[in-house]
Amino acid sequence: MRVVVVGAGIVGAAIARELAMAGVSVTVLDRSASAGGTSSAGEGNLLVSDKGPGPELALALRSLTLWQALRPEMPSIEYEPKGGLVVATTPAGATALHAFAGTQRAAGVESSVVNGLDHEPDLNPAHTTAVFYPQDAQVQPAIATEALLASARRRGASVRQGVEVLGPVLRGDRLAGVVTSDGEIHADHVVVAAGPWSGEVARRLGVDLPVRPRRGTILVTTRMRPRIRHKVYDADYVGAVGSDDAALQTSSVVESTAAGTVLIGSSRERRGFDERIEARVLSAVAAKALVLFPFLAGVAVMRAYGGFRPFVPDHLPVIGPDPRRPGLWHATGHEGAGIVLSTATGELLADLMLDRPPRVDAAAFAVDRPTLLPHLSAGGSPAES
Ligand SMILES: Cc1cc2nc3c(=O)[nH]c(=O)nc-3n(C[C@H](O)[C@H](O)[C@H](O)COP(=O)(O)OP(=O)(O)OC[C@H]3O[C@@H](n4cnc5c(N)ncnc54)[C@H](O)[C@@H]3O)c2cc1C
Repeated sequence: MRVVVVGAGIVGAAIARELAMAGVSVTVLDRSASAGGTSSAGEGNLLVSDKGPGPELALALRSLTLWQALRPEMPSIEYEPKGGLVVATTPAGATALHAFAGTQRAAGVESSVVNGLDHEPDLNPAHTTAVFYPQDAQVQPAIATEALLASARRRGASVRQGVEVLGPVLRGDRLAGVVTSDGEIHADHVVVAAGPWSGEVARRLGVDLPVRPRRGTILVTTRMRPRIRHKVYDADYVGAVGSDDAALQTSSVVESTAAGTVLIGSSRERRGFDERIEARVLSAVAAKALVLFPFLAGVAVMRAYGGFRPFVPDHLPVIGPDPRRPGLWHATGHEGAGIVLSTATGELLADLMLDRPPRVDAAAFAVDRPTLLPHLSAGGSPAES
């Protein structure tokens, strides 16, 4: 079996590895460089703490198991099982956070109410509650992408950079490969794993897919002695993740990296592929981080960067075959969780393609699920925000 994977981000990399492990002949194509898209523009958190019970949480829990299994093979990915600390700053926020953690516990997410200052001595003592999630972890996402691709290559996959997918090779109605900037490539199956550009790639291959970019910006401090031990975020973050609002939303998400810098996020805004880094976004992100960690007010910022989360209107990834175009598969729309979800996405896609029993329920991720159907005819124009 020959499979073309469009996109050498972390999702395409995880798929390539899974398929190559099963003996499939895999070619990964990327119009730019591997890890050159969203997968190098985020923080690399592997979170279950921000997910309520449901299919995304099930995929995340499976992914965490797979990430842990990868550790011996990939010591370079800066995997840190540091845990997440979610902090509320109002009495109402504390009540909502405790209720949310209660629903998650029944679905397999471990958590406990803790004294926030025991976990983070520099946390603002004015917070109203803190819940610790020991399963949350972190990787360096660009390195993790490269490590997954290297693992796929070792198993025979080929990765071709600088090759853009332009259109379909059709045999009747069936997709039999892709037309690229470097000629035609024939395949039994084509997987679109093109992150926020998946809507455009799908359109080129003949179907609508409502994947749109949702902008995110992160501030990076200079290196400092370790003062932030966990992933720490305010309880508002969960609401911002699940919101459909196209306007700017910010919530504080703070963590240190192995290099000693502190990453301060995050923003969410739908404004197409506008790459500008704006002071209004940076100041909103920074102001919220100071509520959690007042000492950050005196810390120097080294740089800011951003990327485009692949947003789907019903907030679930699309993973599986496209019944409208035999031979076409999707693995995209992971929005702000593509790093954590990549491993189980790769496994699920391979399970479906190779007729193995899926380890998670695949129906919730089908392209023709009821919550996505109304959006399919709306298309996935890249200019649409
Ligand atoms: C600010 C920010 C913070 C984030 N933080 C986290 C986090 O902490 N944890 C987490 O799990 N997720 C996080 N995310 C989300 C995560 O980064 C994404 O969900 C994930 O990287 C998507 O990976 P991907 O492989 O689908 O897409 P990408 O990494 O974008 O890869 C898609 C690739 O497709 C290629 N491509 C596009 N069009 C074509 C074409 N026509 N032909 C060939 N190739 C093409 C592109 O060049 C690109 O390399 C964050 C995102 C942002 C923006």
